[in-house]
Amino acid sequence: MIRLEQVKEARQQIADVVRVTPLLNSEQLSLRCGNDIYLKAEHLQKTGSFKIRGATNKVKQAVSAGAAYVTAASSGNHGQAVAYIAQRLGIPATIVVPEDAAQCKIDAIRSYRGAVEKYGYTSAERLPRAKELAASENGVYIPPYDDPSIMAGQGTIGLEILEQLSDVDAIIVPIGGGGLISGILTAVKESRPKVRVIGVEPALANDT
Ligand SMILES: *Cc1c(COP(=O)(O)O)cnc(C)c1O
Repeated sequence: MIRLEQVKEARQQIADVVRVTPLLNSEQLSLRCGNDIYLKAEHLQKTGSFKIRGATNKVKQAVSAGAAYVTAASSGNHGQAVAYIAQRLGIPATIVVPEDAAQCKIDAIRSYRGAVEKYGYTSAERLPRAKELAASENGVYIPPYDDPSIMAGQGTIGLEILEQLSDVDAIIVPIGGGGLISGILTAVKESRPKVRVIGVEPALANDT
């Protein structure tokens, strides 16, 4: 369980790396939905997704605690984020990706000087491999969502939304593993409990 205080601390920790992305009003979506719809433009974030928020918070903590190497298991945005922040902090990173990972994602990880290891096809195979690599080099494995520091980092989006749109009624959040929505709920519900937070997951990948 994390608290609002940890999200606020995360915001300070990551401020020198992460962009405050704009909250854009969409006339087309507003018309179609019969409501005032805004989009939090995290596609303009460093590395192209919000994953850099949690990854920066977690990797910085690991480095402060003496880590000189990090690993992650990811086929996409989390792996790019971990590779980026590791390079920026001057430590090596290995990202374990599936055998059939898209070349553009591998290229993106390598462009941040991350080492790429192809391993298996499922996250159940990749995760233990990333942990094993970290353990063998005295490094730290960076989880994609199930970690307090990752959740607190992702939750900084919630703090920004409350400031950018003070009369927000509801925040609609995509769910994969649930790190993003856990952080946003923490950021929003402790200070503005009336704001509704609604999670959305893909019908064909409804793990949550
Ligand atoms: C990771 C990710 C999600 C899901 O986030 P979780 O914290 O795993 O729930 C949704 N959208 C994008 C673009 C992502 O990169």
